[in-house]
Amino acid sequence: QRIKGDYKYELGELASTLNYMAQEIVRSNQVKDDFISSISHELRTPLTSIKGWSETINSGGYDPEETRIGMEIITKETERLIGLVEEILDFSKLQQNEMKIAIGRVDIKELLQEIMLNLWTKAESRQIELRLKSEDRPLVAGDANRLKQVFLNLVDNAIKFSHEHSAIDLVVYFEGDNVVTEVRDTGIGISEDHLVKVRDRFFQVDPLNGGTGLGLAISQQLVELHKGILLIQSTLGEGTTIVVSLPRLPENTAQTDGAPELP
Ligand code: ADP
Repeated sequence: QRIKGDYKYELGELASTLNYMAQEIVRSNQVKDDFISSISHELRTPLTSIKGWSETINSGGYDPEETRIGMEIITKETERLIGLVEEILDFSKLQQNEMKIAIGRVDIKELLQEIMLNLWTKAESRQIELRLKSEDRPLVAGDANRLKQVFLNLVDNAIKFSHEHSAIDLVVYFEGDNVVTEVRDTGIGISEDHLVKVRDRFFQVDPLNGGTGLGLAISQQLVELHKGILLIQSTLGEGTTIVVSLPRLPENTAQTDGAPELP
């Protein structure tokens, strides 16, 4: 009798687990469908613009100045398309565990200085000041290009979601065996429930921003590939701080360029 009861209990457990799994599959399929439809929309917008401008230019309908403007738009939209496609490919590689990273010695302070130069004009056009406060030689073992991609994305977002005449602080410090970098803005912030969705890799809070919503998900996974962690702290209306913690590479470690493994 007792054994029968146990079986009944186990069958009940099994049924509810299967039910839960089925619901999860339905949910994740729905998320994927929504993602594909929003990505397709993102890809179609620049393509429509490129098609329109090139058709009119081809038909000889514009004077030289209008043609020049049209060509500039075509180039910009093409670059945007390439960026979108690269993001999708990166994301899919990360999902399938196929992202390869080349490990070298990376100085996070130098990396951030480079990023500040890259984004200077963009920040200045909105009167946003980029400030860096860093320990000396914050070294990590990592892929310089991929880590640059991470911090470019974070600082670019910080600029995008900041108010004019504000400042963004990049702060680098040591904590235990880690190099911690904070990207702090005083911009629009993210609400509690939207934060949950931002952490959901297929979601974008505001689809009007013209992004894939993959930037943060890619950054987070790239940081994790470097055995680090990425945290989002945000208060609506007050601002956002993204914290990236990466294992510190001791100063006296031999040049690790090309070395296959992280310490
Ligand atoms: P995208 O590449 O489309 O910008 P991200 O993954 O980088 O996507 O960001 C996802 C969403 O998270 C953004 O669309 C935005 O709504 C929100 N977000 C990211 N960074 C910030 C920030 N610094 N301040 C406010 N909102 C942000």
